Amino acid sequence: MHGDIDRVLISQERIAARVRELAREITKDHTPPVMPGEAEISIVPILTGAMIFCGDLIRHIPIAMKIGLMTVSSYPGRSIRTQGSSVLGQQLGDVKGRHVLLIDDILDSGGTIKLVVPLVKELGAATVKTCVLLRKDRPAARETPVDYVGFEIPDEFVVGYGLDYNDYYRNLPDIVVLKQDVIGRS
Ligand code: 5GP
Ligand code: MG
Repeated sequence: MHGDIDRVLISQERIAARVRELAREITKDHTPPVMPGEAEISIVPILTGAMIFCGDLIRHIPIAMKIGLMTVSSYPGRSIRTQGSSVLGQQLGDVKGRHVLLIDDILDSGGTIKLVVPLVKELGAATVKTCVLLRKDRPAARETPVDYVGFEIPDEFVVGYGLDYNDYYRNLPDIVVLKQDVIGRS
């Protein structure tokens, strides 16, 4: 697995430091007086990619929360370009009247966020905010509004820390670029 890596784009140490910063920001924004009222938050990782990021992030957010799940597929199998996003399953719980924070691994075409945000709003969430660990440097990503961004990255295909290629590499602790010959190899 490690022989497949071309280079480390973001090390696990940098990820950990940034995740703590994001958690501090999110905590502040969801605590009075910034966030008035009694409504609680629901954190919704968009699976499978956001699983690891969300797990690390929420352990630094010391406020009452529930967790809902949503599975969206946009890069099935060996795709390295979006095939269009579709919801494969959901276990959101009751989000009515709650502040929902959607967590995704990476913002690329924006298709996933544009699909999921209206869906959660329709279910009666009080507010819907979005947090992505990575945002690619391309117009479609920049033009999709999100509330929290971990890192801006070049428009390259990355894996690790939850992100996959053909469902592998999610368990790499760093965010990396794969060698050219790995992509396309069957
Ligand atoms: P979007 O819907 O914004 O095009 O892309 C979001 C989803 O596409 C992400 O949640 C992720 O599953 C997948 N994706 C986009 N770019 C990459 C990438 O560089 N690497 C991997 N592994 N997945 C990506
Ligand atoms: Mg995803």
